Amino acid sequence: MGRLIVLLLLAVVAVWYLRRVVRRFEGDERGPRASPQARELVSCARCGVHVPRPEAREAGGALYCSEEHARLGPAPRG
Ligand SMILES: [Zn+2]
Repeated sequence: MGRLIVLLLLAVVAVWYLRRVVRRFEGDERGPRASPQARELVSCARCGVHVPRPEAREAGGALYCSEEHARLGPAPRG
């Protein structure tokens, strides 16, 4: 009976370890698959807030956080 419990414990540990390894492997694979552009942050020319590149609006060669800031244009200087 004692041997059975040891075997059961070993099986549980083995499954736990394998799941951990598989999860780490999947995580590593997910990283490079996502395009670097999707992670790139750009700062809004109006308010300076950082937004992911795909969510930024472009107007007049500058990038903005929202449609409204793209309409307002770059932050006034001075
Ligand atoms: Zn903004």
